[in-house]
Amino acid sequence: MTDATPPPGPHDPVADSPTPADVPPVELVSVPAWGGFAVAVHAGAGPRPRPLTADERAEREAALTDALRAGERELAAGASAQDAVVAAVVVLEDCAFFNAGRGAALTTEGVAELDAAVMRGDRAAGAVAAATGAANPVRAARAVLAQTPHVLIVDPSAAQLAAWGCEAADQERFVVERQRRALARLLEERAHGTHGTVGAVARDARGRVAAATSTGGITGQLPGRVGDTPLVGAGTFADDATVAVSGTGTGEFFVRGVLAHDLHARMRYAGADLADACTQVLDEHLGARGADGGVITVDPAGNVVVAWNSSAMYRGWLTADGPVART
Ligand code: ASP
Repeated sequence: MTDATPPPGPHDPVADSPTPADVPPVELVSVPAWGGFAVAVHAGAGPRPRPLTADERAEREAALTDALRAGERELAAGASAQDAVVAAVVVLEDCAFFNAGRGAALTTEGVAELDAAVMRGDRAAGAVAAATGAANPVRAARAVLAQTPHVLIVDPSAAQLAAWGCEAADQERFVVERQRRALARLLEERAHGTHGTVGAVARDARGRVAAATSTGGITGQLPGRVGDTPLVGAGTFADDATVAVSGTGTGEFFVRGVLAHDLHARMRYAGADLADACTQVLDEHLGARGADGGVITVDPAGNVVVAWNSSAMYRGWLTADGPVART
């Protein structure tokens, strides 16, 4: 066959990644501990097909701010870091701008298969993968943590969700026109898949940390593909002695590098400080392999570091003066 046009097919996240030379250097924001608790959120890192308009920017920053406030409300009322990260991620799942819950990326078959995880710093963890009927996948992940003896359940059934007290939903809730068009473009032109995974990390007044991440994966992924988000140690990790991490970017690289756990291990065993550990894992597991992405992190003292090596990342954190959201 001499036709140079590749046939329509699934997005290949590894082959379609840029070369290492095209990956931007790591950018990093450090927010020193300022009070009794801390929260940070993200809503995805990656290239943007076009710059946001002023209205789009304002809407997305408002959504990030709402998520931060939801986490803050929990923590100010004395709730745990786990409750704070779930509350923040629910807000982002409900918002159609981002690739999680409503507005999630679609598989080659046009289906929203959702991944989510919650992990506490005492190493309790729960996750769902390829979930097609959980209205808020992060709530289902918390139910797996709290109500089952397991860590990861694939596509929980309506009966399981009901038993856990989680709302079920059909695909109409998740599939939005923006993602239908993104899939059509990808299948026709092999354009890059979109990112936009959401996540939160928090430290509560008792010094406990937690992380939660939720995603539709990558536009044009094969049915059944599971990314880094619901895999403990890849896209989500928490340890009360070191750090809570929520990641975003091409999941295959996070899984191969066991990136979130490696960030913890650099702090735990090599004595790296939080900012250095973030930079090192982004450089080694992503940048050096031609991949981009980002992490939000918090340590047990409440110091927050947000780091990314992509041209854009939706991100936010709390300060003593209130939430800060950046697009
Ligand atoms: N990490 C997600 C995945 O590969 C995608 C993203 O963060 O945008 O499933």
